[in-house]
Amino acid sequence: MMRTTVGIVGGGPAGLLLARLLRRSGIDCVVLESRDRAYVEQRQRAGILEQGAADILRECGAGERMDREGLVHDGIELRFARRSHRIDFPSLTGGRRVMVYAQTEVVKDLIRLHLEDGTPLLFEATATAITGIDADRPVIHFVHEGREKTLTCEYVVGCDGFHGITREAIRGAITTYEHVYPYSWLGILADVPPSCDELIYAHSERGFALHSMRGRTVSRLYLQVPNGSGVDEWPDDRIWDELDARFAIDGDWKLERGPITSKAVLPMRSFVTEPMRHRRVFLAGDAAHIVPPTGAKGLNLALGDVAVLARAFIYLHTTGSSELLDAYSDTRLRRVWRAEHFSYFMTTTLHLGPEQTPFQTRLQLAQLERIVTSRAAAAELAENYTGLPLY
Ligand SMILES: Cc1cc2nc3c(=O)[nH]c(=O)nc-3n(C[C@H](O)[C@H](O)[C@H](O)COP(=O)(O)OP(=O)(O)OC[C@H]3O[C@@H](n4cnc5c(N)ncnc54)[C@H](O)[C@@H]3O)c2cc1C
Repeated sequence: MMRTTVGIVGGGPAGLLLARLLRRSGIDCVVLESRDRAYVEQRQRAGILEQGAADILRECGAGERMDREGLVHDGIELRFARRSHRIDFPSLTGGRRVMVYAQTEVVKDLIRLHLEDGTPLLFEATATAITGIDADRPVIHFVHEGREKTLTCEYVVGCDGFHGITREAIRGAITTYEHVYPYSWLGILADVPPSCDELIYAHSERGFALHSMRGRTVSRLYLQVPNGSGVDEWPDDRIWDELDARFAIDGDWKLERGPITSKAVLPMRSFVTEPMRHRRVFLAGDAAHIVPPTGAKGLNLALGDVAVLARAFIYLHTTGSSELLDAYSDTRLRRVWRAEHFSYFMTTTLHLGPEQTPFQTRLQLAQLERIVTSRAAAAELAENYTGLPLY
């Protein structure tokens, strides 16, 4: 039987950053992570940090390697109708940029700091239930080293992702909103330097494609594919040919090919839980909300949630007031719904639905044309992409 102030379920980016912020302010916490360290550190996911998210990592001492190895990006490229257009972030947002630094690296940096500091971070510790939610001391039941154990907490924070148990534990007290998209992404990693300096978002008559990167020597590329597609249907040559066709423009540009080291199909979903708290149980990150990755918002929302939540716990710890904790759900839901709208907008503007009519395609092209010819429309995209303030 263990006790702590804040019991954190899940050691992904949200749980690890929350623990870092709390420990630095002297607030006791324990992180339970169901997977082993190697698995968590290798799990391929997001790669774009908004400026505010990068600042939070710096402020908590986890930004040193990011600043050395991450790539600062000042814009993105939009491709449509075989033409290429650049959206320049700093000039449209008063100087804001994004950082290309993989989620795997954020997670490695935070885990290393926790192990150096002696944070109770238990790998292969699977939370199975939360009891006492309506009492003053909720209890997390978990299995670790083959034994059933309990962690008695003053507060529980579910950072256990979309398939975690915390949201389920407060199911009766929350409402969920969901939209499932009629297409998926096939994502690959390839050992080849990126063929571009900045991300390329391509609308084409064959569907959407995205060229991203995980550093100077590794490319990350995505293709829109029908729901239900399997990686077996996509041998390497077919992937490169399709990427070539979707990125094609009038003029010189070449997509460099290289060995593909990873392939996965990702379904696309929007999902929001309201409220993000029930009594002493809080939800943060993917446990509370999901966005399709087109707007690069999932990781940033997760880091933003726990930055706001940590500040509320620190305020409670130093002043005795629960005012900020009580405001957590409303504060974050305003940002979450903004990010949901932006991610939906980017997704539905750039992808072709299976039932899409030529009329709808012309509307998409009209919208894209507006973004690249109107400073106001471009600024709206740039402000959302680089991230809005936390509060
Ligand atoms: C396949 C995939 C690809 C993605 N690609 C992109 C992308 O390209 N761009 C982008 O912006 N976003 C992307 N995202 C979204 C982004 O990665 C997430 O928003 C981000 O990981 C959220 O962090 P989190 O800490 O809230 O949740 P997670 O990263 O899901 O972490 C949750 C943690 O909880 C642990 N856990 C779960 N259940 C239990 C339990 N019962 N007990 C203990 N531990 C538990 C899990 O093992 C995991 O480590 C992707 C997501 C997925 C799933």
